[in-house]
Amino acid sequence: MAVLRQQSAMENRHGPLTVVQLPCLQDNYAFLLKDEGSGTVATVDTPDADAIGAALNERGWGLDLILNTHWHPDHTGGNEALKARFGAHIVGPAGEDDRIPGRDRAVVDGDQVAFGGLNAQVLETPGHTKGHIVFHFADQKVGFVGDTLFSLGCGRLFEGTPAQMWTSLGKLRAMPPETVLYCAHEYTAANAKFALSLEPDHAPLKERAAEIERLRAEGQPTVPMTLSQELQTNPFLRADDPALAASVGLRGAAPTDVFADVRRRKDEF
Ligand SMILES: [Zn+2]
Repeated sequence: MAVLRQQSAMENRHGPLTVVQLPCLQDNYAFLLKDEGSGTVATVDTPDADAIGAALNERGWGLDLILNTHWHPDHTGGNEALKARFGAHIVGPAGEDDRIPGRDRAVVDGDQVAFGGLNAQVLETPGHTKGHIVFHFADQKVGFVGDTLFSLGCGRLFEGTPAQMWTSLGKLRAMPPETVLYCAHEYTAANAKFALSLEPDHAPLKERAAEIERLRAEGQPTVPMTLSQELQTNPFLRADDPALAASVGLRGAAPTDVFADVRRRKDEF
C-alpha cells in the first residue's frame, strides 16, 4: 500500500464539523474532527501518535477528545502519548473492558458524547470485537464506523458471531441513506475484487469498482463513502437481498446464513 503513504491529508466540511482524514501506518485512517463553532478538536482512534501530533501542530490545533471505536492497537496505540502531550479526554467503549489505554469515560449503546456544540450518539456494533462502537453525528449525517463496516466490506469476526455482526450492520443500515461514513482502513480495492467475484454482473457494483480503480490509480482515497452507495453495492449489507442469496447458492436462506456464508468466503478469498 505504498501509494497510500504518499497521500496527503484530505479535509471535508459537514456544516460546522470539519473532518481531516489522515493516512497512518500501512492502510489506516485517523480522523481529526473540529467543531468550527467552539474550536473543539477530537480524533477518532489513534493509529499513530506522531502522525496525529504533527497534523495537529501543523494546524495549530490542540486535542480535547479522543474517541475510540475498539481496542485494537492500530486504533488505540497512540492514546497514552496523545493524552500526555495534549491532555485529551478519552472516550471509549465500555464493552472492551480494560483494553482501551487511558480511557476516562466508558460509553454504551445510546450514550451521547458532547463535542463542542455538536453531539455524537454511540451505537454498539459488536462482531469485529465484542465491544466495538460507532460514533454517529446524526445532525451532520456523518458516521465513524471504525472496523465494523468498510467500503464494499466489513470487519473480520474476531470476537463475535455472524448473527451479532448482521444485527450490528442493521444499525448502520437504519441511518439515513445520505449519511457519509468514514471507515478506518483503505481496503476498498481488494473488497471490490471479492464483491465482483460473487456478483460479476451486478451493474451498480461494476460501476463502483471502475470508479475505485480510477481513484486508486490517482492515489486518491475511496473513503469516505455514502451509506446509499454501500446499500447498493456492499455484499455484507445485502444479505437479505434475494439476488445476492441466489448468487451464493442460498436462495430462500435466512439473511444471517447468507451473511455468514459471504463472510466465510471473504476470509478464504
Ligand atoms: Zn480492528
